[in-house]
Amino acid sequence: MELSESLRALFGAQQIDALVAAMQSASRWLIAMLALTAALEYATGGNLKRYRTSSFLNDLVYAVFYRGGLYILFIYLPLLSLLSPRYSLNLVSNLPLPATALVYLVCSEFLMYWIHRLQHASPLFWRFHKVHHSQTCLTFVTQSRFHVVDQLVNHLFVAIPLMLLLGVSPVQWFPLMVMGELILMLEHADLQWRFGPFGRLIVSPVFHAIHHSVLPEHHNRNFGQILSVWDHMFGTAAEGPRPRTFGLTGWAIPQSFLSELTAPFRQTGDQSGPYAEPLPPVRGAPGDNPG
Ligand SMILES: [Zn+2]
Ligand SMILES: [Zn+2]
Repeated sequence: MELSESLRALFGAQQIDALVAAMQSASRWLIAMLALTAALEYATGGNLKRYRTSSFLNDLVYAVFYRGGLYILFIYLPLLSLLSPRYSLNLVSNLPLPATALVYLVCSEFLMYWIHRLQHASPLFWRFHKVHHSQTCLTFVTQSRFHVVDQLVNHLFVAIPLMLLLGVSPVQWFPLMVMGELILMLEHADLQWRFGPFGRLIVSPVFHAIHHSVLPEHHNRNFGQILSVWDHMFGTAAEGPRPRTFGLTGWAIPQSFLSELTAPFRQTGDQSGPYAEPLPPVRGAPGDNPG
């Protein structure tokens, strides 16, 4: 029996066809994004040697895993179908599509901001989130470099509850989806862009690069995913030139998808990282001088 026939027998023909289609669309997306990001980086003096490293290939495996259907078909969708019949409220599903998509964006970014702070502040959550931060060579595919548990936290605490509550999917309004995808992809590119005055609203490549910086003054800053507005509002925004070095001190990257999957469960002893430092105070909190 051929491999494809064995897989069809094991998971069902529909699942495998969907997986093949997702893999094909992920391949096209990754090639297009590589061409676009590399062209932008080349035009602005970025370092293209990063694409010849094993770090890039390693993060590419994450991109294929999440975008190629494996995670969505076998983890995310089963979870969603388990919860949606019981808990759907569909609060804003009757509004026009652009309005529901914007409501979703603002709400999800607000929740993501606080979950991201928790991923840094809690030793348990940081154990998994540090996989994203362990990369020293940022490329556009680093956007997909998340431990499965870390990704599940984002989906269980933000994406799935919001979809059930609001009744909208983040991918329903195409223009917003494309804008979000581009912003997320460019965040890890070697670009000196700050987006001028829009940088106070939208996360720029320099803004997110600071989140990955090894410098202590940059730890626990710039938590926003697409919107930077919550960082500015709650006093965690850091500005400045694009840092030169990224990653974590004191935790060597295993440098393979599978060993990174098991690494958080194998770690013992010192868990020092950004979580060990106190988070900056929330602006307006008692004792905080608003000036
Ligand atoms: Zn982080
Ligand atoms: Zn990142």
